[in-house]
Amino acid sequence: MSVKITDICIACGACIDECPVEAIVDDDDNPNDDGCYFVYNDKCVECVGHNDEPACATACPTEGCIVWDNIVEAQPHRDDIGEDKRTSHTPVVE
Ligand code: SF4
Ligand code: SF4
Repeated sequence: MSVKITDICIACGACIDECPVEAIVDDDDNPNDDGCYFVYNDKCVECVGHNDEPACATACPTEGCIVWDNIVEAQPHRDDIGEDKRTSHTPVVE
């Protein structure tokens, strides 16, 4: 499982300190070098066991920048989020 930061990101930095597992890196450390923050999907646990919903998405001031990404094998994920929402287009927080 994971969430994903899309190119709507304005690199404000509000999400990074909210992540309980340090899965987020800033635009300087983004391996895609696209000016956005980035979530390592092999680290993100969708905040399962930490928060009722993904804390990064709750903190993000944009509309829909953070979306549901594919499930990563062996990682915890939110069972109620089906494949239909893991299209890299469905915002975590509407
Ligand atoms: S959903 Fe939670 S664990 Fe995943 S990147 Fe956001 S804050 Fe970190
Ligand atoms: S809170 Fe949202 S806009 Fe700000 S850096 Fe994180 S993903 Fe980007």
